[in-house]
Amino acid sequence: RPHIGVLALQGDVREHLAALEASGARATTVRRTTELDAVDGLVIPGGESTTMSHLLTVLDLFDPLVRRLADGMPAYGSCAGMIMLARTILDTRPDARHLDALDITVRRNAFGRQVESFETDLEVDGITDGPDAGPMRAVFIRAPWVESVSPDVQVLATVPDGPAQGRIVAVRQGGVLATSFHPEVTGDRRVHAYFVDMVREVSAAGSGVGNIDT
Ligand code: GLN
Repeated sequence: RPHIGVLALQGDVREHLAALEASGARATTVRRTTELDAVDGLVIPGGESTTMSHLLTVLDLFDPLVRRLADGMPAYGSCAGMIMLARTILDTRPDARHLDALDITVRRNAFGRQVESFETDLEVDGITDGPDAGPMRAVFIRAPWVESVSPDVQVLATVPDGPAQGRIVAVRQGGVLATSFHPEVTGDRRVHAYFVDMVREVSAAGSGVGNIDT
């Protein structure tokens, strides 16, 4: 089983641990560098990105995490996690730092500060067209959207209708996956299963890189 960490400084950690375990991974929390060193991949949950940025810095986890991402550790960021992984953030605080692992520009709280949350059915490339075909219920909570992507980023999902129609809400670049929405709250495990497969592939390809837990 791949060993996947969930960054547990803040945000909805428990739901991700459960979804990862249900998808065949061994899932543990990450709050310090020794815990980060032990995992084959990392989930960065939703929460509040400026707070997460501050806590990563205060706990001396920021630079170790940047290094592991640069070394090719797979990562999945949901909502605030997507913001943390991005290269460029619009509408954030000037002192907020981010991990620069995904070549996208993200707009924080993009769907509007008044209409904070909504749900829609989404098609996600490589995920909702797989063996368990069918759209996915996507829950957005003060979510970011992806304003633009570089050519090596795959767009996996866009909003199908409504005022935000066409906005990008799921992307992948190599071993890094991000969604604006929260698959951990719906009981639909397909995004987590997809990420567990990504981690398996990277672990299998890079012999000696990461620990495969059997
Ligand atoms: N609005 C939050 C932020 O800017 C993200 C919200 C979420 O993760 N549900 O970090």
